[in-house]
Amino acid sequence: MNVFPEERSVIITGAASARGIGRATASYLAERGWAVGVIDLDDAASKAVAAELTEKFGVRAHGAGANVADEASVRAAVDELEANLPQIVALANVAGVSSPTPYLELDSAEWDRVLNINLNGVHYVTRRVAETMVKNRLGRIVNISSVSAQRGGGTFSKTPYSVAKAGVIGLTRSVARELGPFDVTVNAVSPGPIDTDIMGGTLSDERKDELVADLVVTRVGTPRDIAAAIHFLIGEDAGYISGQTLNVDGGLYMH
Ligand code: NAD
Repeated sequence: MNVFPEERSVIITGAASARGIGRATASYLAERGWAVGVIDLDDAASKAVAAELTEKFGVRAHGAGANVADEASVRAAVDELEANLPQIVALANVAGVSSPTPYLELDSAEWDRVLNINLNGVHYVTRRVAETMVKNRLGRIVNISSVSAQRGGGTFSKTPYSVAKAGVIGLTRSVARELGPFDVTVNAVSPGPIDTDIMGGTLSDERKDELVADLVVTRVGTPRDIAAAIHFLIGEDAGYISGQTLNVDGGLYMH
């Protein structure tokens, strides 16, 4: 069983969006003592979030801009984070985009855009960070899927999004199997409807009512609901959980 080093870092992708899951996760983890590496599209915005985390929570933090769909930029960003932070013990792949295009209106450019960001992006960051974790024989990876993968869309985004998020579950299971011998766990969190701006802008009360119609818990989820699940799965005591998908969706999908 691996013991965590006293000083340890988590890299979070997609952590610059003001009302997003990544940003909430960064704050939640910084508040609990994690040093944080922020990756998002804009370098200055990523560095600004890191500076805010240091100021608010007194932890080490560093930001680096990267397009997760571009492997070279991902590798450069992780190199930069690694040079400026304590040991990378955890990775949360949160960056993603929505895609509401109906299937019959879909072209290959939209298909490629969504698959490149939401699936290839998870792979590129995971592949790079896995090198470090395997060397250290310690790591916790959490990938954000979606209830859309399990229910065939049904919220805002449609087919390429569902496909990419289903791919994330497959990637999670397979990489979990290969990295298990190196004490690296890999899990997915599958959110239901969460109150962020990704579903075409800030949710109106009417939209929220529609979204909760099929849920067991009668409210839309918060970014904090997802942050707490990530915090649990990257914890020192979660080392016997790997290859799993944790549904944080108010009971929308049960199986
Ligand atoms: P958001 O739009 O607030 O955050 C997404 C973040 O990813 C942004 O900071 C954005 O800049 C970043 N990003 C987008 N493309 C990128 C790229 N190519 N490279 C680097 N960064 C990029 O949305 P959110 O709701 O916080 O979504 C976070 C994750 O949760 C996404 O993967 C999303 O698919 C997933 N998710 C969200 C919901 C929901 O209801 N909000 C439900 C299920 C899954």
